[in-house]
Amino acid sequence: MNEREIGGVPLLWGFTTLTPMEVAVHCRWCLAWHHHKLTAPPNVVDYYEAHCYARPDWYDRGYWIQPCETSRARVFGMGKRARGWEARLLAAGETTPSIQRRQAAPGPRPLPPPVDWSKYQRERRPRPTANQWPMSYPTFPEDEDE
Ligand SMILES: [Zn+2]
Repeated sequence: MNEREIGGVPLLWGFTTLTPMEVAVHCRWCLAWHHHKLTAPPNVVDYYEAHCYARPDWYDRGYWIQPCETSRARVFGMGKRARGWEARLLAAGETTPSIQRRQAAPGPRPLPPPVDWSKYQRERRPRPTANQWPMSYPTFPEDEDE
């Protein structure tokens, strides 16, 4: 989760999904992923209406989303999600220590682009040829003394 805020409005990292022009944010208040239609070019911060069902105090002000190149699939495991009963408590405006622990955990963050290993493939070695027996053997000075 992006800890920054602009004018008292939280700024969230937006991750790409399989759908073009869609952005996914991990909401640390709802402990869920919200999906928005991109309204700005990628990497441009824009303002979105909150999709929160937990209704935090700033809900009416919405939030900023800063889209990044990282896909949601790569960071999905980094985002703590509410279990069913926790989601119902959150929607009812209640909380528990386990919910607060998940809300305090660090959220997904942008990752460096994945490495393209095809660029680093080792050169192919020449095929080994059939074993060649030497035609002559080395001679040594002490052999010649005899
Ligand atoms: Zn939310």
